[in-house]
Amino acid sequence: MKTETKLVQAGVKKDAATGALSTPIYQCATFEHPELGKSTGFDYSRTANPTRQALEEAIAALEEGDRGFAFSSGMAAITAIMFLFKPGDHIIISDDLYGGTYRLLEETFRIYGIHASYVDTTSIEKIKQSITDRTAAIFIETPSNPLMKVTDLEAVCSLAKGHSILTICDNTFLTPYLQKPITFGFDLVVHSASKYLGGHNDIIGGLVVAAHPELSEKIAKLQNGTGGILGPQDSWLCLRGLKTLAVRMDKQQQNAAAIAKWLENHDAVESVYYPGSSTHPQYELSVRQSKGFGAMLSFELKDEAAAAGILKHVKLISFAESLGGVESLITYPATQTHADIPAAIREEKGISSRLLRMSVGIEHADDLIKDLEQALSLVTQAVLS
Ligand SMILES: *Cc1c(COP(=O)(O)O)cnc(C)c1O
Repeated sequence: MKTETKLVQAGVKKDAATGALSTPIYQCATFEHPELGKSTGFDYSRTANPTRQALEEAIAALEEGDRGFAFSSGMAAITAIMFLFKPGDHIIISDDLYGGTYRLLEETFRIYGIHASYVDTTSIEKIKQSITDRTAAIFIETPSNPLMKVTDLEAVCSLAKGHSILTICDNTFLTPYLQKPITFGFDLVVHSASKYLGGHNDIIGGLVVAAHPELSEKIAKLQNGTGGILGPQDSWLCLRGLKTLAVRMDKQQQNAAAIAKWLENHDAVESVYYPGSSTHPQYELSVRQSKGFGAMLSFELKDEAAAAGILKHVKLISFAESLGGVESLITYPATQTHADIPAAIREEKGISSRLLRMSVGIEHADDLIKDLEQALSLVTQAVLS
């Protein structure tokens, strides 16, 4: 079945008792046992809940994995995964990554003896050089946040398999509609469902998909043990969001491509980071391994004051963190999403104070461009006067 169809059918016809088309919200903590030693399959909602299970089955099918797991946030999902590791373990992770993941590894898991190396994973050679006899996992984000660097999924897997290293992909930016890391050999996929999967800037959630049964077993234990599960209401909202993912993403990436092109031709813009630009260093790789380029882009202005000016003057586009929803958002990675990364490291990696990141929504592209244009013209006038 095609991904578009799987998306629309997420959670449909799961309630044989009533024939309800949409999975009901089982707002229920506990389930009655028929008799001693018997269960309906549901005992207590931390362990399993029918609404959450419908979402978990949907994401497992979409990512072509073994089992899915829903958590209360993307960070709760990543935290549960991190408990697979033990003191002394070493993790190789993309150096351009979500700031919250960096914070979790540095401020929490480092204390427990789990060490992360931040590596430019666009270079398989650099990953290879970073492997030690303690390396337990390679964790990548692709495209990365905020510089949209693309990592070769197949090459990472073949390298890891040779060393019995677990492979984890944060697939938040492209979603299984555009990219399916498990089909390239990845062991685990993680999502912030707060972004494209939910899609409406109205829930916080996280999802994990395990590629094979032994790993599913471990994640199930961790989900039940650590307890950061997604509630029935939010599970339902996420199912509802999934249904329109394909049409939203098609429109969003069409808009993003138009905006990227417009920005590339603007005098005030130094550079544009969008995997769909033919000048993007991993453009060919993106074409090979994903079905599209997504709707996230970043751009660097020539002048720092222009960055602040755009954030102040945009009217339609909201100056807000987060991404992936139907409404367009713009953010300033240096002091927002990536504030926890020390300034010197940030600058060295290219996350400068002239960089803005945009999550392009489903509005009309002309209106979005007009909004950027009026904000930029106010800024340029201010600089001239
Ligand atoms: C937002 C995000 C996270 C964290 O997810 P939350 O739902 O905010 O906890 C992790 N990875 C990426 C790439 C993200 O964009």
